[in-house]
Amino acid sequence: MTTTAKRHIPLTKPVMGQAEAEAAQRVILSGWITQGPEVAAFEQEFAAYTGAAYAVAVSNCTTALHLALLAVGVGPGDEVITVSHSYIATANSVRYCGAEPVFVDIDPATHNMDPAFIEAAITSRTKAILTVHQMGMPADLERILAIANAYQLPVIEDAACAIGSEIWWGERWERIGKPHGVIACFSFHPRKVLSTGDGGMLTTNNPEYAEQFRLLRQHGMSVNDRVRHLANQVIFEEYNVVGYNYRMTDIQAAVGREQLRRLPEIIAVRRRLADQYASLLRSIPGVGIPVEPPYARTNWQSYPIYLPEGCDQRTVMQYMLDHGIATRRGIMCAHREKPYWRREGYHLPQSEYARIVASCCPSTRR
Ligand SMILES: *Cc1c(COP(=O)(O)O)cnc(C)c1O
Repeated sequence: MTTTAKRHIPLTKPVMGQAEAEAAQRVILSGWITQGPEVAAFEQEFAAYTGAAYAVAVSNCTTALHLALLAVGVGPGDEVITVSHSYIATANSVRYCGAEPVFVDIDPATHNMDPAFIEAAITSRTKAILTVHQMGMPADLERILAIANAYQLPVIEDAACAIGSEIWWGERWERIGKPHGVIACFSFHPRKVLSTGDGGMLTTNNPEYAEQFRLLRQHGMSVNDRVRHLANQVIFEEYNVVGYNYRMTDIQAAVGREQLRRLPEIIAVRRRLADQYASLLRSIPGVGIPVEPPYARTNWQSYPIYLPEGCDQRTVMQYMLDHGIATRRGIMCAHREKPYWRREGYHLPQSEYARIVASCCPSTRR
């Protein structure tokens, strides 16, 4: 018999335990499995946590982004300014509306949209700005919003990775999702800090948007299940618009509520790990470590580093893997994928550089 188990540190691992298991069981035995009281409670608790007036739960962040873009009126022929250097869902959500993503380059220090490139990308067709808080690091919203406001463009935040991240706002720290743009969209995929298996959430301060999200996530049905269930009169519903099935189940929501309770501890551990990485990596010549700009406190969903020049990424990653430590390449670029190819190409040097040179370290413990 072997006595030494091979060490394996995965890139990330959902922090879940008995509380989540019992929450799922409670729902399964309750007789109400989807779009019920747990979803409503999760929404309320999520709104309170982020500081938003409204939170609406959906099936994932991609569907949240789709609904957000529809709410601000993005449609066929429109343009949305966003980044290529993101998970492909960001660009795809724009295409779902029949619109075109217009990619601007990133600031390599934060991996986020560089506000310096926005103005040149605005045309008469621009309908919105979709900015990403990449890997949990808040984008420079103050500068982005200043430009957006000057052109009266709504800003949607792809906050898929950013639950629990904070931004300096006026004179205090505020959580991402308050929201600072008009709508923020979150993901609960297992790669993110808070997970429900799959799942998503929209936050907004606009009651009309919130109403529209509730309508469109459930086939455009005019009366929701809970209202019909609680009514003592027969109610017939109507379908006045073409909606979608973007529902979250109560099983997911119950798990999400437990995850929300754990969140402060999860983030505290990540911030400690990031400090440890920084102090160890800082002494290696040529390694670029991520730094929080003065306006940002990240949840460190991922910890990306730039490898020294001339250092082969694959060799380093293989060496780490041979020692039981999983890493991943930097964030992809949508413009390099087939649906976004174009004859004249793109000029996004920082996005390309970050894709090729950066590597993500594990943000989890064994
Ligand atoms: C994960 C992610 C998404 C997609 O989230 P899903 O919940 O999987 O749909 C969108 N944008 C960014 C930046 C992401 O990291």
